[in-house]
Amino acid sequence: MPNVHQFDVVVVGAGGAGLMAGLYSSRGAKTAVISKLYPTRSHTGAAQGGISAAFGNLEEDKPEWHTYDSVKGSDYLGDQDAIEFMCEEAPQAVLELEHMGLPFDRTPEGRISQRPFGGHTNNVTGKPVRRACHAADRTGHMILQTLYQQCLKNKVTFFDEYQVLDFLIVNRRTAGIVAVELATGEFHTFHAKAVIFATGGHGRIFEVTSNAYAYTGDGAALLLRRGIPLEDMEFFQFHPTGIYKLGILITEGVRGEGGVLINGKGERFMPKYAPTVKDLASRDVVSRAIYTEIREGRGVNSSNYVWLDARPESIARYAAEDGRTNPDGSPYVLSGEQLLAKVPDIIDFCRVYLGVDPLTQMMPTQPTAHYTMGGIPTNKFGEVVIDESNAVFPGLYAAGECACVSVHGANRLGTNSLLDLIVFGKHAGLKAAEYAQQADFEPLPPDPQADSRAQFEKLRNGSGKENAFDITTEMKKVMFDLVGIYRNEKGMQEAITKLDQLKERFQHVKVTDRGRIFNTELFHTWELGNMLDVSEVVAKCALNRRESRGGHSREDFPNRDDSDWLKHTLAWQKNGGVEIRYKPVVITKYPPKERVY
Ligand SMILES: Cc1cc2nc3c(=O)[nH]c(=O)nc-3n(C[C@H](O)[C@H](O)[C@H](O)COP(=O)(O)OP(=O)(O)OC[C@H]3O[C@@H](n4cnc5c(N)ncnc54)[C@H](O)[C@@H]3O)c2cc1C
Repeated sequence: MPNVHQFDVVVVGAGGAGLMAGLYSSRGAKTAVISKLYPTRSHTGAAQGGISAAFGNLEEDKPEWHTYDSVKGSDYLGDQDAIEFMCEEAPQAVLELEHMGLPFDRTPEGRISQRPFGGHTNNVTGKPVRRACHAADRTGHMILQTLYQQCLKNKVTFFDEYQVLDFLIVNRRTAGIVAVELATGEFHTFHAKAVIFATGGHGRIFEVTSNAYAYTGDGAALLLRRGIPLEDMEFFQFHPTGIYKLGILITEGVRGEGGVLINGKGERFMPKYAPTVKDLASRDVVSRAIYTEIREGRGVNSSNYVWLDARPESIARYAAEDGRTNPDGSPYVLSGEQLLAKVPDIIDFCRVYLGVDPLTQMMPTQPTAHYTMGGIPTNKFGEVVIDESNAVFPGLYAAGECACVSVHGANRLGTNSLLDLIVFGKHAGLKAAEYAQQADFEPLPPDPQADSRAQFEKLRNGSGKENAFDITTEMKKVMFDLVGIYRNEKGMQEAITKLDQLKERFQHVKVTDRGRIFNTELFHTWELGNMLDVSEVVAKCALNRRESRGGHSREDFPNRDDSDWLKHTLAWQKNGGVEIRYKPVVITKYPPKERVY
């Protein structure tokens, strides 16, 4: 058989989760990391704001508060055992990154510096607490570079620019994966005892998004086609502050440093929606507040955006209004130079892409599709679980944004994703290596590449009239408008009908480039198939959940309903449709309470 490689453990994806998993797995098993992008181009590199850990370096904080904030932030849908595990492990995990050489910003005493972020609170006073560890506004970039160096040092084998197309199952166990090499169009089989998926999210299904072009839900979709369910896919987070029209993220760190949101009438509106934490309320709350302002005609120029004001004189004025002080009790102020040092990339983005200087002008912003809480179901060791009783699929693991542990429940707190990558990437790597040490290789199927080849050949030889770009544009609009920040039954029914039509049109898509070498048109068309499958699951799960919780906001069912809906969704692709079942949420210490903002 041509192009067959054998590794104990294969990691799919080289973002923060994949690199951490690869690093830990490589210490106990022969490991390869396969990535459709060159590793340091992964979306983790775009993460700006920080990574959470309750060090209490600047004021009192503890993992217990971090746990409770995350449970509350998740709108009680997160599994509390997993959340507690993550928050307890956080300080050690972040210190480990520091010891690997990650250049965190520092306090004058030399400790890791921390900034406030949405939903991070002192549980006694309810006031914001500084919990987000940061390296300027390039925290994710630093994580990626640091982990990539460590993987190279540990001699992890990399297959860069290989797109994984299929997961091989033999005897109901993991047998490997199939990938295509982008440079040559050749197929490769990776025979493995264990496979870890760390393929990131799927935000490109929405029209306005902060997500990278690679966020097309490949891992989730290809596993779905192999009978693995997806969990809580209706929960998608819209970040309140995307750059108007472009969707590029303006980190919550800007509000953490004192920036505030202003409507078209020049009013600061967040105190009306969240009197205690104001502009630092959870993302779902702030996104809906912005949308409400816009819908009620208070957008800027009656349009669909608002201002983010981070001019130094405004920061000082609003800090005084809020009674915010420095740790020594002096009034909180931030000079232009200090702001530039803290969020240099954001200031650069605005200057370059908008011609707006945040030091002297307000920034036009609108909510942008940002993060999927749902994904491949796992337990807290990264093992993929495939039914209501959490049965483990032998040799299959997932970590990072493509996975659903679930630590983010219905809504993720800022900076908890980078933490999720590090903690669960590590445990998935450890578990996979441990499994590989005692398991045998399953035999490969007779023609492991057959399905992948068939999918690609069908696309390459398609003679229909449909164009992938048009289908993509229509899908994104349908998802953003009808399955976006606000949802209702009528809109979602319409979305599902349209998605059906788009899926049908996709069967007649024509790829104009028939070549094999770097045929990006072909790869993107294959990715569109993944996005259509994922969109269908998101829309159907959202239609089924007749309540509002976290990122899922139904106009026709505006309240959270714990008696009927305090449960996780599991969705399977079956008989050309989606089958939906539910499983219980793990509740340990914190019985659901009403959310108070
Ligand atoms: C703009 C932005 C800012 C953010 N800021 C923060 C922040 O400050 N703090 C925070 O906690 N979170 C933040 N997040 C969220 C967080 O960064 C992401 O959730 C996280 O980085 C995802 O990491 P990952 O390892 O799961 O995926 P990624 O880093 O995206 O890596 C995915 C990998 O999978 C590979 N891949 C995908 N499909 C295939 C395939 N078919 N075959 C082979 N390889 C494949 C890709 O090549 C890539 O290497 C931010 C997200 C965005 C978009």
